[in-house]
Amino acid sequence: MAKILDGVAVRNDILARLKPRIANLKRKPGLAVVLVGHDPASEVYVRNKVKACEELGLYSDKLTPPDTVTTEELLAIIDKLNKRDDIDGILVQMPLPKLVDSTRVLEAIAPEKDSDGFHPTNVGHLVAGRPGPRACTPAGVMELLKFYNIPVAGKRAVVIGRSDIVGKPQAMMLLHESATVTICHSKTQNLPEECRRADIIVAAIGRPGFVTADCIGPNATVIDVGINKVTDADQAAKFGKAAAFAKAGSVLVGDVNPVDADKAAAAFTPVPGGVGPLTIAMLMANTVTLSEMRQAKQAHA
Ligand code: NAP
Repeated sequence: MAKILDGVAVRNDILARLKPRIANLKRKPGLAVVLVGHDPASEVYVRNKVKACEELGLYSDKLTPPDTVTTEELLAIIDKLNKRDDIDGILVQMPLPKLVDSTRVLEAIAPEKDSDGFHPTNVGHLVAGRPGPRACTPAGVMELLKFYNIPVAGKRAVVIGRSDIVGKPQAMMLLHESATVTICHSKTQNLPEECRRADIIVAAIGRPGFVTADCIGPNATVIDVGINKVTDADQAAKFGKAAAFAKAGSVLVGDVNPVDADKAAAAFTPVPGGVGPLTIAMLMANTVTLSEMRQAKQAHA
């Protein structure tokens, strides 16, 4: 049986380390969350982010423009937030309505307030290995590897998925820690063979149970970023979740088949309770770091 890598323990450790840093600041770090419209999943994500701020003692401001908001109106909201002294981090919850130019909106956030680490300036800082806010989910994965003393330097890492928010920054972070990194995607030929060579597999695909035993080599650590809702009883049973399905009528499954990971891997992250809790913790960490930097700058001005 594989070791289960508990994301809640890592999250608690990250948050505990933030507390003394927050206590040292003259002013509470402030996070503004912009939620456009009423997408149910986005509402849940935003609620959890605001709750995390409250629990940690951060100031948060939730702005809720209607889904009829225009790009120009959103740009004006971002401009105001960029100028506010009490706001250190700005997060625009994705997805935005189709008619809004998401790229323009994200790029309007001042890089020094970019708590998600998505601004091209901060992506450049990541590539160049300079300090700056990092994309939260892959940064959380790096914290998890560190917490469990899983060696990265000199190891083979395979990242499945090449999105701007997970796959690409994840590959870059692993590379900075001296892993030999392969990025796989939908056009990769013989993906199981690529994966089998890996000491560390990070799956960020968005397909339930995609990574099966034939992708997992001996002694591999398997990190499952995926969050997929499964509403089919047979499929849930295939992932060892028949009992949970019978209770709730649906289950969350990652991009890795957990039954296979348990048999074939040395260690793996469960879904839920693996990578999921780390994303918000790293959002808090980014906001605190941005606040420290702004407050230090203000003190010297
Ligand atoms: P995304 O933007 O849809 O990207 C998916 C990636 O997977 C793409 O690069 C795609 O390749 C690749 N892919 C899709 N089908 C594939 C296949 N059959 N074989 C190989 N590669 C395939 O997704 P994302 O935003 O990165 O999210 C990935 C998953 O992580 C989702 O389940 C999402 O819900 C979850 N997620 C979780 C958290 C968290 O907090 N735990 C945060 C973010 C995302 P191409 O580029 O070739 O199309």
